[in-house]
Amino acid sequence: MLVVGGGINGVGTFRDLALQGVDVALVERGDYCQGASGASSHMIHGGIRYLENGEFRLVRESVVERNRLLRIAPHYVKPLQTTIPIFSTFSGILAAPLRFLTHKQQGKPTERGAFLIKVGLSLYDAFSRDGGSVPRHQFRGRKRALAELPRLRPDIKYTATYFDASVHNPERLTLDVLQDGEKAGQAAGTANTQGNTARASNYLSLKSLTGQPNRGTGKGSTVRLRDELTGEEFDFTADVIVNTTGAWVDLTNEAMGAASTFMGGTKGSHIVLDHPALLSACNGREIFFEHTDGRIVLIYPMGDRVLVGTTDVDADMGQDAVCTDEEIDYFFELIGHVFPDIPVSREQIVYTFSGVRPLPRHDATQPGFVSRDYRIERRGPGSIGSGAGAVVLSLVGGKWTTFRALAEHLTNDVLAELGVQRKVSTAQLAIGGGAGFPADEAGVQKWIKQHMAAGRDADRTAGLLTRYGTRAEAVMAYLDAGPDHLLRSTRELSARELEFMAAHEQIGHLADVLIRRTSLAFRGLVTGELLNEMAEVLAVPLGWDAAARAAEIRHAQDVLQRFHRVETHSLVA
Ligand SMILES: Cc1cc2nc3c(=O)[nH]c(=O)nc-3n(C[C@H](O)[C@H](O)[C@H](O)COP(=O)(O)OP(=O)(O)OC[C@H]3O[C@@H](n4cnc5c(N)ncnc54)[C@H](O)[C@@H]3O)c2cc1C
Repeated sequence: MLVVGGGINGVGTFRDLALQGVDVALVERGDYCQGASGASSHMIHGGIRYLENGEFRLVRESVVERNRLLRIAPHYVKPLQTTIPIFSTFSGILAAPLRFLTHKQQGKPTERGAFLIKVGLSLYDAFSRDGGSVPRHQFRGRKRALAELPRLRPDIKYTATYFDASVHNPERLTLDVLQDGEKAGQAAGTANTQGNTARASNYLSLKSLTGQPNRGTGKGSTVRLRDELTGEEFDFTADVIVNTTGAWVDLTNEAMGAASTFMGGTKGSHIVLDHPALLSACNGREIFFEHTDGRIVLIYPMGDRVLVGTTDVDADMGQDAVCTDEEIDYFFELIGHVFPDIPVSREQIVYTFSGVRPLPRHDATQPGFVSRDYRIERRGPGSIGSGAGAVVLSLVGGKWTTFRALAEHLTNDVLAELGVQRKVSTAQLAIGGGAGFPADEAGVQKWIKQHMAAGRDADRTAGLLTRYGTRAEAVMAYLDAGPDHLLRSTRELSARELEFMAAHEQIGHLADVLIRRTSLAFRGLVTGELLNEMAEVLAVPLGWDAAARAAEIRHAQDVLQRFHRVETHSLVA
């Protein structure tokens, strides 16, 4: 089995297959979670707005998965109080059913008024309350709304507040899912003495399909893989190939000689602001609302930063997905739409990011109304390349929220191809550092007290719990096994912790640590001093000589500048 693509959907499928004892490999051409999975709005949500698209199956599955992720990944997935500001009572009542029936916007967008939102939220409650554990939505009139959120536009009529969930660290959650898969493969390999049956590598891309079947079994197809760090190429033979390359699914199929036209991705961008006034105006809630163009947008506190998004424009896969000046203007306008007296300027942007949603091809339908549901496309043996024998399953679509359920579907399809029965369900299985994670704040404080040690105060212990969940215990055992010190340039990381990452977390580039192993880049905390110090520490375990170190610093600066609008000045040339 070969899974191509290390976003959350490929990684989730890898874990599920590994748990079934299937011999599986995963390849990702860059770093894990560097595609759409690292560019989301960080919401784990039922998708209330998909109700108006009539996507009831998706909404139901999404809320079940949202409630489940709160239980099985509590270290990274947290409840998110969400407030919709509403400026009219009845508008949209005629437009909405029409949209619902045609899936097209008719003429100028009509605002969604309070009545329509009430109907939507009542339906959402019915789907989503998880036996009563999720509170019912609440409506507030102007007076109470402004008492709760005083900086809102004064002509507000109502607010509606309900609960969804947020994933604070999607990159690390992806890594946790991956490591669970690798662990399951080691266990299966030990049991059947065949060695590890689940292996995953980043910086390994699928280049082409050579088509030769497996020499031993006469089945499957051989593909050519390329190590993107060394340039080395080699062959790999698989009976089933799962194409989870997101927005690149058609390009990957084309590389395998199996041209397809499944995809029609749309680009979405976000900005991250260091803006204390806006942060406090949100009062800990996501502000989720309709902008003047009828699109649903969000302003959302994440730690001490504010996330603002997002756009939805047809993507050109030949271009890098980056946040443009026009998108930034759009974000500033939408902030002004709900918080008109809070000024915002470009200097307050600490980070930007963009990604392409892996949506199905949608021709005339407007991006916002394209189905967010997923499907699996099968190509049988003989239908790809030159009479090759592998089955290719391509994933079209798939949101963050539904990754576990989707992985279960894909895994079931693969098991059917292999004629193997499912052994383990992932439905109740804790993910990585979510196992044994304290249930409430008192439990968190107790855990921190129990795990403090000489040289590790409460803040540092809390930081490790936040970053790794209960996997922090393994990290701490590593830290305690030798001399260690906090970095000069950030108190959030120590030298041995970076060594731990180098040994256990497949670091390909310095940028991986800044963007995906930590949230330093996201929060705008990358400095020249930090780049130099981190490169210096990582150079030892990763074998970087002086030239490689300088190249890593330049690469990180280039990635931060090109894709995230972050300028840094390294102290070393
Ligand atoms: C702006 C935006 C906001 C979103 N907000 C949300 C949200 O709030 N909630 C939610 O649930 N969902 C959200 N989504 C959707 C969600 O992020 C994606 O649907 C999901 O992450 C897709 O995951 P994936 O694994 O299928 O694809 P990706 O994460 O894109 O992964 C595909 C991977 O394949 C790799 N690859 C490509 N070609 C090759 C090759 N030849 N060889 C090896 N590897 C290859 C790529 O490098 C990439 O890492 C959002 C998406 C975007 C873009």
